[in-house]
Amino acid sequence: MDGYGPTMTHLIEQLEMLPGIGRKSAERLAYFLMIAPTEKALGLAQAIRDVKAKLRACKACFNFTENELCTICSDPRRDHQVVCVVEQTKDLLSLESSGAFHGVYHVLQGRISPLEGMGPEKLTIDALVERVRSAGVREIVMATNPTVEGDGTALFISNLLANDPVKITRLARGIPTGSVLEFANREMLADAMRGRQSF
Ligand SMILES: [Zn+2]
Repeated sequence: MDGYGPTMTHLIEQLEMLPGIGRKSAERLAYFLMIAPTEKALGLAQAIRDVKAKLRACKACFNFTENELCTICSDPRRDHQVVCVVEQTKDLLSLESSGAFHGVYHVLQGRISPLEGMGPEKLTIDALVERVRSAGVREIVMATNPTVEGDGTALFISNLLANDPVKITRLARGIPTGSVLEFANREMLADAMRGRQSF
């Protein structure tokens, strides 16, 4: 198909890479950008550029930030001795929106998955262990996804910390096995956090 020409086709293909965007939506967005005032369309381009140029991993928790520390790690009202371990930043955002957690986080940047070549050395596990030992962390809340790989990752970490004086808990299983944190609703996540149990 296409009466678009190579430049529009390229834009459509780029938009189609976005999650949840199929061909039809990509065409609609590309058309919107084509007829939008130049300033408006380039504002979007600049916003994407800025995100890639300015955001980096928080020195403490590996959440995204523009500074050394993310807004959560630099918030003195939060309990820095309770660390919730998540696979991805999007899990952190889901838990934050539940409003049930007042500690800080540690983003693993993935989960152990031998089939995908993801060994523990590719995650931020070493940094987590170091953090627990140097910062006097008193509780680790495992909030990896309730999947085989998420559970395996949590187990691996809890074994590493078995001899450390840190309490290890995990989210209550209100979340159906196999579902991902991202899709759990706020109430469910809040319940899972409040009802967390020993690992
Ligand atoms: Zn942080």
